[in-house]
Amino acid sequence: MLILTIMIFKFSDILGVSMRCVDVLVIGGGPSGSIVSALLNKQGIKVLCVEKEKFPRFVIGESLLPNCMNILREAGFLEAVEAYGFQYKNGAAFSWKDEYRYFDFCDKSSNGDGTTFQVQRAVFDKILIDEAIKQGVEVCFETAVEDINFLDQYTEATLSDGQKIQAKYIIDASGYGRVLPRKLNLEVPSTLSPKKAYFTHIKDNIDEILYDRKKILITTHPEFRDVWFWLIPFSNGRCSIGVVGEESRLNINSSDEDTLKHHVYLAPMLKRLLDKAVWDTPIRTISSYSKDVKQLYGHRYVLLGNASEFLDPVFSSGVTIAMVSAKLASQVVTKILNGDQVDMQKEYVEPLMFGINTFRTYVEGWYNTKFQDVIYAKDENHKVKRQICSILAGYAWDHTNPYATRSNEALEVLAQICKR
Ligand SMILES: Cc1cc2nc3c(=O)[nH]c(=O)nc-3n(C[C@H](O)[C@H](O)[C@H](O)COP(=O)(O)OP(=O)(O)OC[C@H]3O[C@@H](n4cnc5c(N)ncnc54)[C@H](O)[C@@H]3O)c2cc1C
Repeated sequence: MLILTIMIFKFSDILGVSMRCVDVLVIGGGPSGSIVSALLNKQGIKVLCVEKEKFPRFVIGESLLPNCMNILREAGFLEAVEAYGFQYKNGAAFSWKDEYRYFDFCDKSSNGDGTTFQVQRAVFDKILIDEAIKQGVEVCFETAVEDINFLDQYTEATLSDGQKIQAKYIIDASGYGRVLPRKLNLEVPSTLSPKKAYFTHIKDNIDEILYDRKKILITTHPEFRDVWFWLIPFSNGRCSIGVVGEESRLNINSSDEDTLKHHVYLAPMLKRLLDKAVWDTPIRTISSYSKDVKQLYGHRYVLLGNASEFLDPVFSSGVTIAMVSAKLASQVVTKILNGDQVDMQKEYVEPLMFGINTFRTYVEGWYNTKFQDVIYAKDENHKVKRQICSILAGYAWDHTNPYATRSNEALEVLAQICKR
């Protein structure tokens, strides 16, 4: 056996290829990758996280939900996040023409944190991965996972620097890189129609005294109810602004900057607020961002966050779903590596999909306007508002909330009452 091992080492030396062994290879160092790496490392599991980019790097997804906070706490990241001084967030506001409604996340029916942050993701993601490194996780930056081969006894990953990694388990947290969905042909079309987002960061110069920087502002387009804007203020006088809709609605045959400004200045509240804004950063776009897969796991691998299913940005659920998937995956992978029996369907897929499907109801309800009718209704019932508020705060996994457990029927009834 010893001779064979020496021969393998010699042979790989001759080829100039180094082979390393780890328990878990995590592909991608975004929120799902850093959280799962830290949680596994706490269980004594040897993790290698491989990240294609050099951090900090830009990524969209800047408004967190309070349900993230406990997972950040569990991963040991919260103190560092709080220390940075990100914009404190305590709710979500909605505007449509002259209507304005808001939800205070502390006034919700679920237990748990009621506040969170609005973050520049470049900084936020770097804080998370740096904290994971401090805890002992090994991270290779500027290295892509180029190929994965599932062999009899182990899985072999080929990295862009030529390294070969032997891993007992692969966690795909590669976001839109979607390494395993592409490799294993797991992609299926999303049930949500393809949309495009135009967005940028601006110096907002908002001087309206009553404007609440502690809430994301979601604005319905005055002409098209299936087009909406986000305004996410940061703590440094800047904010993220974006418009989302089907390409045919947004296209005005002009530059990206003209397109974004054209739509923003059609919305009365945004026009008033952003009157003195300085548009100093190039516009970015992303199209057809909703993604889905046939399956969330397979023999010796699991998919997390955006590498699995991504719905839509409207209720800022992406990072929360990514973190919940990371937490659940850390639990099942720990059990698997300890030799325990795991029912992946019951212990990973069903718990994760419960919350994703709750969000799906409200995302679909937003675009078919049933949920907008609820949000912009004139009368409100306090108990119902607290339950809806829980969902908006990210507690979509709360089995005591009928707006989560029976989301479709509950929304249908509520929308009919509101319409009347
Ligand atoms: C327009 C828009 C607005 C959004 N707004 C919000 C919001 O306000 N709030 C919110 O919560 N969510 C929002 N989201 C969703 C959010 O961006 C994602 O859900 C979140 O970033 C997912 O985290 P992740 O860790 O799964 O993936 P990512 O954050 O995408 O991280 C994946 C990492 O994997 C790396 N990678 C990729 N391929 C490879 C490879 N081959 N090898 C090694 N590394 C690799 C990437 O470089 C990246 O760093 C928005 C999404 C869109 C499209």
